[in-house]
Amino acid sequence: MGFFDKLKQGLQKTHDNIFNKVNKLVYAKSEVDDDFLEQLEEILLGSDVGVQTTEILIENLKKRVKTDKYEYSNELNTLLKDELKKVFSEGNGQKTQVFKITKKPHVVMIVGVNGVGKTTSIGKLAHNYKNEGYSVMIAAADTFRAAANEQLETWAQRSGAEIIQLQQGSDPSAVVYNAINSAVANNHDVVIIDTAGRLHTKVNLMEELKKIKRVVQKILPEAPHETLLVIDATTGQNGLNQAKEFSKYIGLTGLILTKLDGTAKGGIVFRISNELKIPVKFIGVGEQINDLQVFDKESFVKALLED
Ligand code: GDP
Ligand code: MG
Repeated sequence: MGFFDKLKQGLQKTHDNIFNKVNKLVYAKSEVDDDFLEQLEEILLGSDVGVQTTEILIENLKKRVKTDKYEYSNELNTLLKDELKKVFSEGNGQKTQVFKITKKPHVVMIVGVNGVGKTTSIGKLAHNYKNEGYSVMIAAADTFRAAANEQLETWAQRSGAEIIQLQQGSDPSAVVYNAINSAVANNHDVVIIDTAGRLHTKVNLMEELKKIKRVVQKILPEAPHETLLVIDATTGQNGLNQAKEFSKYIGLTGLILTKLDGTAKGGIVFRISNELKIPVKFIGVGEQINDLQVFDKESFVKALLED
């Protein structure tokens, strides 16, 4: 299955939730009047686009229809797609940029609360990097959870990546120290660091993540090159709160939004992009190894609004 078909399949539920309703609305109305905008607002809110982002969209649409006359439904559809794309900030998902490596090893740190899909996304991400021709080393720095090692090992095998692990309960920084040194010694291109999502307290977790960063920087001062927060797209406002917290404590370069295949409220992607101003770099659209895609706004909006 090609990239776009896979995306469409993954976004099926949201597509049905947005597209079918928008389509009905567009064909039922001959003009963009208050009633049209009200109904559109409802559809967007129902898909988790969020109040603030929906308001901006509706305001922009109002301005557009005042100046640009549209005559046919498909023109209105194009206009809608246009406005939806504008919600995304610059720097959102261009394949060549996402996988660009300026210095070896390129270090990617993956953070996020428990169960959002960090480990799974790391397996898929490793697969993506391998496909781009890079050698990948995974650092198993979630030493808190039992069975974390085993799960990550399986993903490393699937993707053909190397893995560095220590016993459960070991110092995560020690794992990272070993992994980075080994990557340098063995000339690896990419190091992906898995981290714990839960510790005894939030403060502990943030301190641990900071410590991991410090250890990385002792060996490679310019690393980590990416700190990506994984957010479960089905969690709504919670995901936004998590992003604010992690961003405040350790800084983020991008987001991975997972489980879009499991929700009809994929409109959260617009909301997160607009409210957080942190680029969405990857989206998860399934549980298989090739189900992590580079986020691309053109394809995303197309997959949502086209039949
Ligand atoms: P972690 O605790 O953050 O490391 O989360 P895991 O990687 O262990 O994932 C938790 C669950 O979410 C697993 O059952 C994964 O298969 C599932 N998962 C992760 N990403 C996706 C996705 O994009 N789609 C679906 N349907 N499930 C996902
Ligand atoms: Mg995990």
